[in-house]
Amino acid sequence: MQPTELQTSLYERIPLSRAMGVNVRALYGLRAALAAGLLATLLSACAGSASRYPVPALPVSKLEQLRADALRALPPEETGEFLDADLVEVVTLDPSLQLDVRYAGSDNFLRAPVYPEARVFLQRPAAEAVVRVNRALSAQGYGLLLFDGYRPWYVTWMFWEATPNDKRNFVADPATGSRHNRGCAIDLSLYDLKTGLEVPMPSGYDEFSERAHPNYAGGTPEQRAARDLLRKAMAAEGFTVNDDEWWHYDYRDWQKYRIGNTFFKDLARTR
Ligand SMILES: [Zn+2]
Repeated sequence: MQPTELQTSLYERIPLSRAMGVNVRALYGLRAALAAGLLATLLSACAGSASRYPVPALPVSKLEQLRADALRALPPEETGEFLDADLVEVVTLDPSLQLDVRYAGSDNFLRAPVYPEARVFLQRPAAEAVVRVNRALSAQGYGLLLFDGYRPWYVTWMFWEATPNDKRNFVADPATGSRHNRGCAIDLSLYDLKTGLEVPMPSGYDEFSERAHPNYAGGTPEQRAARDLLRKAMAAEGFTVNDDEWWHYDYRDWQKYRIGNTFFKDLARTR
């Protein structure tokens, strides 16, 4: 088994019994020496599972210093005409949307919680468009699984500072901000309405590899079909997929909104 295959299994939350079942069956048919070799491969794959992230894990003290510095930093000044922010908590518009906000836990590239709460906000027109996509997909047996939406600017600052220079193509420059900062970008995938499980895609979410490319030709035909189904449904409601990440979509009106730096706790809980 290639390490990436194991990582994909874990990442997609395939039940451990299922992931292990394959290997248990394999072990029965092999001699002890071969079994030991397979086990070693498995263990090394587990040990290497953090390597899909582009940055080394930071000590807690360094991360806390970064957070403190980020909260003191000032977003870029923007001139011109903008619409007023109208950030809506997306699940309040459609409770059948599922959440898996990795930045509220430790399963993200910083390996530490960045958001204090697992909540997803978008500017109202973008949120309503996501709801329409979710409804359209339900007829095909799928629902939307949301990873991330509006991101306060100070978090983009933290991501940038935590990332080595040669890996900064994976993160947004705080000097210009991210479309997530404007409340018009959403990271999402599909879940199966029957099983409730995340639908396998050619790469995991936030995987920094060529497999994350929206036109990546590898993976299984089913994975590519799921990725392309999501893209078609999102495009029909005004979202454009990112060039490097199949899970990231920008809403067509993102230029109309300013970079935001409001904390989740200061945004209304229900609307
Ligand atoms: Zn994104």
